[in-house]
Amino acid sequence: MAHFKQPTQICYGEKTMNIIETLPLHHAMLVTDLFMVKVGFAERVKSVLDRASIPCNLFDSVEPEPSLETVTEGTYALLENKSDAVIALGGGSAIDAAKAIMYFAHKAKGEGGKPLLIVIPTTSGTGSEVTSFSVVTDTKSQTKIPIVDDLLIPDLALLDPRFTRTVPPGITADTGMDVLTHAIEAYVSVDANIFADIYSERAIKYVFRYLVLAFQNGDDMQARERMMVASCMAGTAFNNCGLGITHSLAHSLGALFHIPHGKANAVLLPYSISFNSLEAGEKYQKIARLVDLPASSIAIGTKSLILAIQNLKEQLNIPSRIRDLNIEENDFRNALDELTDKAFHDPCCKKNPRKPSREEIRHLFQKAW
Ligand code: NAD
Repeated sequence: MAHFKQPTQICYGEKTMNIIETLPLHHAMLVTDLFMVKVGFAERVKSVLDRASIPCNLFDSVEPEPSLETVTEGTYALLENKSDAVIALGGGSAIDAAKAIMYFAHKAKGEGGKPLLIVIPTTSGTGSEVTSFSVVTDTKSQTKIPIVDDLLIPDLALLDPRFTRTVPPGITADTGMDVLTHAIEAYVSVDANIFADIYSERAIKYVFRYLVLAFQNGDDMQARERMMVASCMAGTAFNNCGLGITHSLAHSLGALFHIPHGKANAVLLPYSISFNSLEAGEKYQKIARLVDLPASSIAIGTKSLILAIQNLKEQLNIPSRIRDLNIEENDFRNALDELTDKAFHDPCCKKNPRKPSREEIRHLFQKAW
C-alpha cells in the first residue's frame, strides 16, 4: 500500500506572519539564533506577537548543527515557561532545535497536549518545516542523531521568502543543493510513490531553473520564492519516502569534519547516483528528460544528470571531491573506518534503491575523495 501525508498547514507569501495573530495562544517561546536577533528578524516576529498580546520568551542560542546541550537547555526553558506555542525562526538548525525542544519537553511533561509548533524558515534547504525529522549533534561522539517521530511534524509552516534575502551566496548554494539531494533521493527511494514524485519533480525543476539565479543575485525575489517552495516540496517528498545513501555519507562526513550539511550532500550526490545507476536508472532518465537533458537511453540519461549536477556545482563554486573540502589526506584516511561505520548504520541507507555493503560505502568515500 502506498501512503502519502502532508499534515502541516502551509501559508506562503508576504503576509503569512499575520496568521499568528489569529491563533488562541497564551504564551510563546521563540527559538532562533543570534544572527536572527542581530538583523531584526526575531523582532519582526515578536512585534506580531506583541500586537496580539501574546507574551514571548526568546531562546536565541541555537548554533549551526544544534547540539544535545543546546536542546537540553531549551527543553528546561520551555518546561519553565509553560508556553503553548513554540515558534522556530531560522535555518534547519534553529528549526530542528525547536522541534527537539518541543518534543523532549512534551515527553518530560508526560500529560496534556503538545505545544503548537510554528516554523518560519529563513534558508531554502532542509524542508524541516514539514518533516517528522530533527537532527541533533552529540558533540562528544561527533555523531548526528536523527530523531524521527510524527510529533515533530510542524503544525504551521510560514513561508515568507523575504527572510531568505540576506542568505549569503555560499549558504544559498549549499542549502539549494540540499533541496536537490532531498528531491532526487526521495524520487528514487524504495518507498517512492506517485504523489510524492510530483513534489520531487517540481522541486528538481525549480532548483535547476532558479538556484544559480538566487546564488548570483540574492535580491532576485522570484528565484528566492521558487527556491523556498522547492525546499518545502522536497521536504514533503522525503518526509513520505525517506532519503538515501548520499545523506548517510553526508551525515557521517559532516559530523566528523564539520562540513555544512548541504555542501556535503552536494559533493557526494553524483557518486551516489553512479552507485545506484542500475537500480534507479529509469528514474534518473526521467529526471534528465524533465530538465531537458539528453536522455535517449537510461545510461545516457543517468550520465547527463551526473554531468548537469557537476556543472551546477561548478557554477555555485562547490567542489567535486572531498579532498577539496579543506580536509587533510591523513585525517581522512585515519577517519575512514569511523566514517564508513557511521554511514553504514545511518537509517537513510534503508530507503536507498541499492542496499550498500560496508565495503561499498568505504569504496564510495574513497572514490569521492
Ligand atoms: P543552518 O540552519 O545551520 O544555517 C546556516 C547558517 O546560515 C547559520 O549561521 C545561520 O545563522 C545562517 N542563516 C540562516 N538564515 C539566514 C538568513 N536568512 N540570512 C543570513 N544567514 C542566515 O543551515 P541549514 O542548511 O538551513 O540547516 C542545516 C541543519 O538542518 C543541519 O543540522 C542538518 O542536519 C539539518 N537538516 C534537517 C532536516 C530535517 O528534516 N529536519 C533535513 C535536512 C537537514
